Amino acid sequence: MTAKEQGSDVDPISRFLDPERPLDCDEGRRLGCAGFCCCLVVRLKQGEADPGKPDATGPRCVEKHPGTGRCIYQNVEDSRCTVYAQRPEVCGSYDCRNDPLLTIVLEEGFRSIGQLVARHTQRIKFGIEP
Ligand code: SF4
Ligand code: SF4
Repeated sequence: MTAKEQGSDVDPISRFLDPERPLDCDEGRRLGCAGFCCCLVVRLKQGEADPGKPDATGPRCVEKHPGTGRCIYQNVEDSRCTVYAQRPEVCGSYDCRNDPLLTIVLEEGFRSIGQLVARHTQRIKFGIEP
């Protein structure tokens, strides 16, 4: 329990967002997350294998489902990762709680990195909260 939580009732969202606590995706799911981060660009590191195509060379991003824009390794039924044990490093280290870009993707969809950066810059310029 963090100092903030001691002796007070902390609502679940505040607890989830508390930077003093490690990210808890199970808690996030209970709050409504459907694996939202799996619609972001998943870039593989130099030399890192694609979980479903270990011998592939070429594009260094995990493929997206053409219809949903979600990662091809996300289970459409329960939105969980089907390659969890072999998932890319970036998936294991990602923390949605400090990523304003995810908000833009969820609100507007993902079309290109250029669109994402432009919208992010615009929001900062006009002081729009993520
Ligand atoms: S990191 Fe991804 S799966 Fe975990 S709570 Fe955030 S959006 Fe959901
Ligand atoms: S590899 Fe797994 S955790 Fe990573 S984006 Fe795809 S479904 Fe999500």
